[in-house]
This record gives sequence, structure tokens and C-alpha cells, in this order.
Amino acid sequence: MSKEHYKFVVIGGGIAGVTCVETLETSNDDRILLLTASPLVKVIQNFKQISKVIEEFDVTEKKALELEQTCKNVTVHQEVVDNIDFDNKIISTKRKKFKYEYLCICTGGKPKLIAENNPYVIGIRDVETVQIFQKKLKSARKVLIVGNGGIATELAYELKGCDVIWAIKDSSITSTFVDAGAAQFFLPTLLNENQRQNKDEEGATICKRLKYGLEGTRDANDSNIFGGALGPDWASGLELIDKQDKKHVVQIEYSVEIDNIIENTDDESEFNIKVRLTNGKEYKVDFIVSATGVEPNTSLFSTTDAVKYASDGGVKVTDKLETGVKDVFAAGDVIYPDWKFSDQWIHMRLWTQARQTGHYAAKCMLAKSQDDFESISLDFCFECFAHSTRFFGYKVILLGKFNGQGLLKSEYEALIRLTKGEEYVKVILKDGRMQGAILVGETDLEEMCENLILNGTDLSSLGDDLLNPNIDIEDYFD
Ligand code: FAD
Repeated sequence: MSKEHYKFVVIGGGIAGVTCVETLETSNDDRILLLTASPLVKVIQNFKQISKVIEEFDVTEKKALELEQTCKNVTVHQEVVDNIDFDNKIISTKRKKFKYEYLCICTGGKPKLIAENNPYVIGIRDVETVQIFQKKLKSARKVLIVGNGGIATELAYELKGCDVIWAIKDSSITSTFVDAGAAQFFLPTLLNENQRQNKDEEGATICKRLKYGLEGTRDANDSNIFGGALGPDWASGLELIDKQDKKHVVQIEYSVEIDNIIENTDDESEFNIKVRLTNGKEYKVDFIVSATGVEPNTSLFSTTDAVKYASDGGVKVTDKLETGVKDVFAAGDVIYPDWKFSDQWIHMRLWTQARQTGHYAAKCMLAKSQDDFESISLDFCFECFAHSTRFFGYKVILLGKFNGQGLLKSEYEALIRLTKGEEYVKVILKDGRMQGAILVGETDLEEMCENLILNGTDLSSLGDDLLNPNIDIEDYFD
């Protein structure tokens, strides 16, 4: 089998891989190869730097080969990589072999399912899993959602036309992102039909981000290879609501896990399964959506002992995104950043960080190839965590250590401002300096909070007035 030779090879057509390829392309004339299992790749459009660290963008899906038209130095092969011989720098797929000089692995993650090989338990990860979900949803009357992150939150809000039981292991909803106070703020919108309808109508005018198409699926034989992960708005763009009856009934079961799933042979109700929760309650449902997070898809590293893994399964990378294998970098959901984080940055597997690490990996690869590695320092985006999204129809901005992550409870205090149905603001202060913020609604506080966090401004003299809507903090410090 002949080998094609490329200076730069990137594996993975998700946000991390595509951003890496695009960045390599803009500052280098050598040919670049993108290998991706999925026929569609994720491309970022309308990128907007809202402030120093808050960014917003749309994500579109493109046929993998279309990328070659916009990136002239890029060759795309839709191939599943089976094996990498890291000593000889050779990548093997079923049909071909490729030789690389510098490689970036961006293979993303795969859903962690609460039960493997159970036809009534589905995980949502990519376009194909959403198609399976939609098919099952058509005839569903009762669905159980397990998980408390972004996917579960979105589903609990979007699913209509069937009863929803939302089983979460924590004592408040959406706890991957927000605290119990914000969860309480959201609850009426989730549970109260009228309020929800108003928010939906508002949301329809505000929300302008991507609506995903359903074009293209991966090779059905490669059940372990996933397409690019979906991103925000995946649920609103897909017809989850295809029934006349659009009622939305959500029942939340707090502080529980799944104890047992059994096929329902009891009665004629035709529910497929009976689920027992750890609080002893039993529900008969059509199926379970397991939205319990993803685990890094690290299988391509199985042929080397040079990489180290974090406790969450991610491949540890240095502050130059090196994996430990010579000339092999990694970015996106597959990594765990193994460096001393700046005080206000945290790692989360989000598409913002997939973009940022993909971009930074390309810069590091280029510098390495030009013997200029020492000149590289961490991008500014790793100074302060920022995430902009929508939950339950509200704009949500998370900044810095928004939940006091990594801080002892005794070390920090929280100031909260709440206007029911409108906004929820929480800032975390340590020694009078802002460490993070949760901003829900149209608060217009994001830039101010970001500046106060980044500048480490001493706010002690302000006391509770920090969140007083009648005081203009920026004037205060002028
Ligand atoms: P992926 O997008 O997973 O891409 C991995 C790529 O690698 C794919 O193209 C795959 O085909 C390819 N690949 C894997 N193995 C091989 C192989 N052996 N050979 C060749 N190619 C291979 N993030 C947010 O910030 N906000 C949200 O609201 C949000 N909502 C989400 C909702 C859902 C339903 C899901 C699943 C995720 C959501 N995320 C969200 C997370 C976000 O989508 C991911 O963090 C991000 O997309 C990861 O990008 P990635 O490029 O690292 O990996």
C-alpha cells in the first residue's frame, strides 16, 4: 500500500479539528490533510469577539469535501483511522496509509451511557443519534431523561408532546453549569406552561444561531466512531415536536440515580421498560435518554505508552498541547489540559474550548515545525473562563470561577441579585476581588464583570453596592 506524505495531519472533523486545519492553512503553504470519520464536518461562522474573553459564533455543518474548496491547501479524506504507528509516523485506515510530520488528534468524545446495548437507552451525541431519538419519539408517551448537563437541560425544556421524567443525581437542575439559586430561578419557566410560552415567543426572535440539518450519516458499520458532537440549538433546529398534542409535562426527580431497568412484561400498557430509581420510585416509560456526559475518545492512543490520562479519561496535554508522543498534539474534547491554570480559568468540554484549543494547537504545530517552539505562550483566552449560551429561553453568561470552582466555601462570598422572571446575577468574591459570575437574562453586566475579574480590582469598599442597579460601577472606578 503506497503512502501519501503530509507535513501536517489532523484527525477529526469536529470544531477542534476543523479550526486546527483552518488555522494551519492561513499561515502555511504546505499541504494539510484532514482525516475524518464523519461525512459532515463542523465549521464555525460569524465569529464575534464580544469582549476580551467572551466569544459567540454559529456552527454549520459542511460536507467534508466542501472544506477543500474554502481551504485550498487542505485535502480531506473521509476515513476512519484504525491505527497509528507513532514510531514511524504512519497512520492507517482500512484503505490507505499516510505519513505525517506533525499530527493533531481531535477525536472528541463518546457518550457515557447508563446501560450499553439496551435498545431502550439512547445517548445523544451526533446527527445520527438524534435521528434515532426522533424516530423513537414519534410514538413515545413517556420518556425518562437522565443527566443534569447541557443536553439534559435542553431536552427537558424542548420536549413536548409526551410526559418527561427528569432524573438528576443532584439537588438542583442544570448543576453542571449553574448553582441552586439560578436553578430555582429557571424552575417556573420549565414547569409553568404560560411563562414558558412567553419565553418561547421571546426566544424565537432572539435566538439566531444554527439550526442543524440532518444530511449525511456515518458508516453504520462503525458503531464506535461518532460524528462531530452537536452544539447549542441542536434541539431547537430539529423537529422534536411532531405531535398534535404539544403539552409539556416535566416531573423532576432530585438526588436519584437509576437503580434498575427491566423490560416491561407486567401489563398491557405497552410501555417498553420499567425503571426503578434509587429513591424506590418506579416509572414505566417508552425509553430513556442517557445524557450523562461524554468520555474522551482516546482509542487512537492505544498503541503508545507515552501519553498520560487524567482521571476523567482525557489525554493529558502540556501548555503547548503536546501529548507526550513526539510531534503529536491534541485538542478539543479528547484532551485534559495538564498545566497550572490561571486563577480564573477552568476546563470544560464545550465547543468554545474545542475552537480555542484547535486554534492554539495549530499555532503550536507551526511553531514547532519552524523551530520556534519556545516563542509560543498560552493564548489569552485561557486567562478567564467564559461561556455564552441559552438555558430555558434565557441568555446565560458564565465567567471565571462562576460556581466558586476549586475555592473552599469559607474562602469566598457570593452576592446575588434576582428579579423574578427577568434576571439572576451572582458574583463570587474572594478577598474583595471578583473570581467569577453567573449572569442570566439581559443583565448587560458581562463586560464590567469580565474587566473586574481580569483586573483583579479590589471591590471591598463597595460592599453589597456592587450589584446595586442604581450604581454605575464603571463610573465608580473612573
Ligand atoms: P467532536 O465534535 O466530537 O468531533 C470529533 C471528530 O473526530 C468527529 O468528526 C469524528 O467523526 C472524528 N473521529 C473520531 N474518531 C475518529 C477516527 N478513528 N478516525 C477518524 N475520525 C474520527 N458545547 C457548548 O459549548 N454548548 C452547548 O450548548 C453544547 N451542547 C451540546 C449538545 C450536545 C447534544 C452535545 C453532544 C454536545 C454539546 N456541546 C456543547 C459540547 C460540544 O459540542 C463539544 O464540546 C465540541 O463539539 C467538541 O468538539 P471536538 O472537535 O473536540 O469533538
